[in-house]
Amino acid sequence: MKFKGANAVVIGTKRSALAAAKLLVGQGAHVRAISDQPLTEEEANAFRQLNVPVDRQDLETWAAPTDIVVLSPGVPADLPLLDAARAKGLPVIGEVELASYFLKGPVIGITGTNGKTTTTALTGHVLTQCGIPCQVGGNIGTAVTSMTADSREGQWNVLELSSFQLETIHRFRAQAAACLNVTPDHLDRHHTFEKYVAAKARLFETQTEGAAAVLNYDDETCRGFAGRTPAEVYWFSSSQRVPAGIWLDGEDLIWRNRPFLSRARIKLRGLHNVENVMAACLLAGIAGAAAADIAAAVETFPGVEHRIEFVRDLGGVEYYNDSKATNVDSTQKAIDAFKGRLWIILGGKDKGSDYRPLRTPLAEKAKAVLLIGAAAPIIRDHLEGAVPLVEAGTLKEAVRFANGKAEPGDIILLAPACASFDQFENYEHRGRVFKQLVNDLA
Ligand code: ADP
Repeated sequence: MKFKGANAVVIGTKRSALAAAKLLVGQGAHVRAISDQPLTEEEANAFRQLNVPVDRQDLETWAAPTDIVVLSPGVPADLPLLDAARAKGLPVIGEVELASYFLKGPVIGITGTNGKTTTTALTGHVLTQCGIPCQVGGNIGTAVTSMTADSREGQWNVLELSSFQLETIHRFRAQAAACLNVTPDHLDRHHTFEKYVAAKARLFETQTEGAAAVLNYDDETCRGFAGRTPAEVYWFSSSQRVPAGIWLDGEDLIWRNRPFLSRARIKLRGLHNVENVMAACLLAGIAGAAAADIAAAVETFPGVEHRIEFVRDLGGVEYYNDSKATNVDSTQKAIDAFKGRLWIILGGKDKGSDYRPLRTPLAEKAKAVLLIGAAAPIIRDHLEGAVPLVEAGTLKEAVRFANGKAEPGDIILLAPACASFDQFENYEHRGRVFKQLVNDLA
């Protein structure tokens, strides 16, 4: 595709859209951006500096000359506006697809419903420790189009990829691709579980022979991807021996029929993190790192902020921040990661979730649940009778209450199973407030 002199339209005004616009301007395209929302001051300035006009989204958009449409991952691919563009025969591509035209060096693509960020950061850490050049980006932070400038042959691009980024790829290729797990999520955007799976499957379908796919042997949907890729498949499992790959046998990770890393050497809590570690090890192995170096590198990975992050030990009571546990599944994983004696803070903005699957794990492991935010009444309704419930209302009150009651050996855990937007800007803000409250305790 020729970008010089082309009329390009970028849909969206957030980070990825801005990065795409910047890349296109740099390639000599005539760029305009389209948004259905008012811009923040910062966004308006950024587009102004690029000399890219931002227009309102309407069907008149395609009256002006247009050669290519680039979609930011935050924008649904099935908007009527985009259907109209496709009906006119205009190519509609995603931001990651655009990047693939310019990205040098091989790609490691990591997807899954939960664990993407942890596994992406860990893979980057392991490669770096093993002396293998890489840059890390995608959904984890840096838009893939902004990584193109620093990309070079022989340097791996380790990319966290969401279903929204994958549903629009065609020529984008991952030399090594991993899927950690697939459970129903984002159905507001994808409408059905099948469509969500189909988006994730694109990562494997677009691979070519000679590439590698890393898949969770214990996850039925991941297993299905093996039949949808020409790549060589490597498996990981936390429960059973695998045909080729890494599995957990008691306390040892087994690779090529040998124990290569004991679980005790992994700093991250929980079996789900052992799965993330296995995936990252396989990816690093595919990129050429030696097993012994990989094992040593895993040991020094401190984890990612807001994911079962240790905050403080105060008089024998330990505090953990898992603000990123924004759904019931990830909260369950957090509970599983502890032996018991939990004071657990739940609540926030409800996403229509069913909290009842938490009844049994909470009954087994929690001393009490501290309810906060708008979701408190519905969570109370779902958990009543399984575990003592405390109406704390706010995070501040929850921390104060738990701190007053907890005894040495207890754990106070924020793993709210809800979005944060009722009381906080986002999950990072919620996690930072929690850590501040905990660190302020006398
Ligand atoms: P993502 O980027 O896919 O959202 P994160 O690494 O940010 O994944 O973790 C999100 C949440 O899911 C955290 O609460 C974390 O504890 C939990 N989690 C991490 N890895 C897994 C996994 N492999 N399976 C299930 N839950 C996980």
